[in-house]
Amino acid sequence: MAGDSFSTLPLSPALIANLESLGYLKMTAIQAQGLPHVLAGKDLIAKAKTGSGKTATFGLGLLNKINPRFFGVQAMILCPTRELADQVGKELRKLARGIPNIKVVMLTGGKPFWPQKSSLEYGAHIVVGTPGRIQDHLGKQTLDLQGLEVLVLDEADRMLDMGFSAEINSIIASTPSQRQTLLFSATYPDTIEKMSRSIQRQPVTVTVESAHQAEVIEQVFYQCSKDKRQDGLLALFEHYQPKTTLVFCHTKLQCDEVAICLRKQKIQALALHGDLEQRERDQILLRFANHSCSVLVATDVAARGLDIKSLEAVINFELPHDPEIYVHRIGRTGRAGEKGIALSIFTASEKLRVEGVESFQNQPGTFGKISALKRDAQFTLQAPMVTIQLDAGRKAKIRPGDILGALTGDAGLSGSQIGKIDIFDIVSYFAIEREALRSVLDYFAEGKVKGRNVRARKMG
Ligand code: AMP
Repeated sequence: MAGDSFSTLPLSPALIANLESLGYLKMTAIQAQGLPHVLAGKDLIAKAKTGSGKTATFGLGLLNKINPRFFGVQAMILCPTRELADQVGKELRKLARGIPNIKVVMLTGGKPFWPQKSSLEYGAHIVVGTPGRIQDHLGKQTLDLQGLEVLVLDEADRMLDMGFSAEINSIIASTPSQRQTLLFSATYPDTIEKMSRSIQRQPVTVTVESAHQAEVIEQVFYQCSKDKRQDGLLALFEHYQPKTTLVFCHTKLQCDEVAICLRKQKIQALALHGDLEQRERDQILLRFANHSCSVLVATDVAARGLDIKSLEAVINFELPHDPEIYVHRIGRTGRAGEKGIALSIFTASEKLRVEGVESFQNQPGTFGKISALKRDAQFTLQAPMVTIQLDAGRKAKIRPGDILGALTGDAGLSGSQIGKIDIFDIVSYFAIEREALRSVLDYFAEGKVKGRNVRARKMG
């Protein structure tokens, strides 16, 4: 439909051409409903979740407005978590490709402060960050928001849930009052309405359907007895054989138990929960994102902000009490045109939770029988990639190209065998095809990166 095309919007030709090169041919629902208002300079309340195309909804609006010749912060995006901020930053950089010299600076916690300060001194057009760290920069006067034109609150409900309301108010007090304010939230409780009233001017509200379309996400519920939950989970894996899966549990203990149970069956799984140190958490997210781990078992809190593009399945090992959380969980599959499956295990005493989901989504659930699933005791699941850790990173001036060079040069790999490369301050990680593991480890036993010996070890 012509009406769904980005070219119907008053966007700069450079942005339109870039959208074509990204393969964004049609607007998503939130883009079609929200972008005309955003481009008209209006304040917006958008009830939309991750996966709906919301980042481009505010991203195109602010990129269209930015003056690249003025090196001051003109747009700021506040996010609840570092992971979401990283994801937003990446998407913005992709969208900005058509405009030369747009600088996006990330200001998130858990990262050193001073490099952020120098990036800001160098001149930034857009900042993306978490409230705590942005407030720190304002307090130390390393961030100046006087030239701010667009403020975005992304996943505003999560930010309030996480107790960021004081930080947000104090940050907003440092911005010009004639700014444009765009508020994105998956849910719309009273607290959000109150916040909108105090920070927005005559906002336009747009809503995209909260229930997931049946044709995009296949949802099936399976009843089992309490002591058969783990067996039920194995049956789901054996039958559906998903290549990438996020399993949701209630507690940290449950996460560990489920991951152990899956590993016993030779289904490669890692548990992600709040007890882990930041570094362990980063490593797990990284291994899942670079396809060297097939199953992540997580609590809701730990999975916040996690974004993996091609997640085939979401499994609820236990259903949440709140149907909104269910909808949020399963929204991690079936993104941007891909199909997904959402499978849920429930016991007789949890039937109410299923009914809650049915009435929330305003559609009856589809029920399957565990006994009818095709079992395969030989089934195993191994990720196609493995992650290698190198004991040198940014501080040793290692860049992705150096690692790529060493692997495709002396180690003899072809480019297609190499996956994601992630460089941190003192370590780096890269993913390679499992078959190439031996030759890569052999190479690093002797070989060098940038003329220096580095130690390599396989993760996990
Ligand atoms: P978001 O809700 O912003 O996290 O977007 C979800 C995913 O959809 C991202 O990976 C985007 O790259 C992708 N996306 C956003 N808008 C479009 C579009 N109009 N066409 C195709 N893909 C899109």
